[in-house]
Amino acid sequence: MHQDVRAEDFRTNGNGVENGREDRVSEILEGVERNLNDLVQGLSLLGIKRCLWCRKFYRAEPGALFAGAGGLVCFECIPAWWPARREELSCGDRQKTETNLVFWLRSFHNARSFNGWGKPAGQHAVKFELVASCLECRGTGTYMGDKRCRHCAGPGSVRVVVPSKTT
Ligand SMILES: [Zn+2]
Ligand SMILES: [Zn+2]
Repeated sequence: MHQDVRAEDFRTNGNGVENGREDRVSEILEGVERNLNDLVQGLSLLGIKRCLWCRKFYRAEPGALFAGAGGLVCFECIPAWWPARREELSCGDRQKTETNLVFWLRSFHNARSFNGWGKPAGQHAVKFELVASCLECRGTGTYMGDKRCRHCAGPGSVRVVVPSKTT
């Protein structure tokens, strides 16, 4: 009986030491995390922001980072990020983000929309392409009285082709 009590005491002490060490470690980690968050916030004030996919920092220049649903993504990560991200979004969010992405790729990265599946004529080397709802007919395939939308030729979706940088 006496021995049982001592064993119990020992276990309690043992746990106490363990917990104390873990507390200190998590205290240190919390401090490091706080400092890092401060740093990231400071960088963002200087116009330097982080890609949520590759974690690299970029100057927040137009076209450098896309404000996707849930955070900023750099141009380089779009081909890997978008197919994964679109699966996680609700139908409405997917449509909205896709529209913004196509506008962004067109505005800053010379993306062009094509219909059909042949190789686009006169196109430079392709970096990547994605299939998106036609912006003009909003994916319906009919456009302002035309039976067949002339932008997507009817199906309601287009290929958005992003050329490799030509600079
Ligand atoms: Zn990235
Ligand atoms: Zn269309």
